[in-house]
Amino acid sequence: MNDFAQRILTWFEHHGRKDLPWQQNPTGYRVWVSEIMLQQTQVSTVIPYYERFMQRFPDVFTLAQAPLDEVLHAWSGLGYYARARNLHQTAQLLAREYAGEFPAGHAQVQQLPGIGRSTASAILAFSQGQPLPILDGNVKRVLARHHAVSGWPGQTQVLKQLWQFAELNTPDEQVAAYNQAMMDMGSLICTRSQPKCAACPIASTCAALAQHDWRSYPGKKPRKDLPVRRVQMLILRDPAKRILLEQRPPQGIWGGLWSFPELPLSGDITQWCTAKGWRILEHQADLPVRRHTFSHFHLDILPREILLAEPGCLILEEDKHLWYNLHQPNELGLAAPVARLLSELSQ
Ligand code: SF4
Repeated sequence: MNDFAQRILTWFEHHGRKDLPWQQNPTGYRVWVSEIMLQQTQVSTVIPYYERFMQRFPDVFTLAQAPLDEVLHAWSGLGYYARARNLHQTAQLLAREYAGEFPAGHAQVQQLPGIGRSTASAILAFSQGQPLPILDGNVKRVLARHHAVSGWPGQTQVLKQLWQFAELNTPDEQVAAYNQAMMDMGSLICTRSQPKCAACPIASTCAALAQHDWRSYPGKKPRKDLPVRRVQMLILRDPAKRILLEQRPPQGIWGGLWSFPELPLSGDITQWCTAKGWRILEHQADLPVRRHTFSHFHLDILPREILLAEPGCLILEEDKHLWYNLHQPNELGLAAPVARLLSELSQ
């Protein structure tokens, strides 16, 4: 075993995390769900979601058979909903074509929806002990600093270099412990803004530390100012105070989640309602604008409360619209700002 891996494993023995819920009974299914949740989300946030998810969908077949809406509801709050949709789709594929198990081939696992090279390696290393390197955000940071790999890891050349170091350092034995140790190193020792170099097991060979310049590694993503889009969200109430929600199309932002009807900022609400045969009794209030930021744009939302004259005349596509009762809420996958607005409205 190489010296780097040896030092990492010795550190893990004394300081690594060994009681995370997905480390207990690490089947492919349990590891996979944890890996998907941990993309973009911290361990402490993931734990309660993971435990609830496992109670509700204890195995791949339960997940495959559940309606997508139920899966999105269990995911509400974790964000990046494409992850939940891919999880559901992959569960159906595994149930249908692989008898509910993950295939043993790395290339096959990597072809499943939502599973990239690092996630495929993690699933096979943690559940089957295959000696495969991982390269999540934490590991990238440790390797970029230790080997002084400059540049933003989103660039192909930089990523390639990091994978080469990951392959070089990963041992053939104790790979599950080693991979977990590397993730722990990134989240406990070689942290983003205040690395604990004095407690680091690889400090003696760390190039960034030798340069007194860990801040430069990994390189930052080139900054771009995000464009701003503005929309009105219509909080349409009927006389019984129920609120109209509609399900968004499967593709695009918040795909498949439930939301308020939306209009461009310049859209005329009265005209829009009249065209649908809905009569407005009163424009009740405009709530303060709120901003939701996606990776590629800001969305400024102006919520407008409208009281409709009667619900009876509404012509709705039944499976795409529903009347939401604030005091007996349905279990739905809600877009994050919609969930926050509904919770404000219920108080
Ligand atoms: S010595 Fe410091 S910068 Fe280098 S890997 Fe360890 S914690 Fe990170």
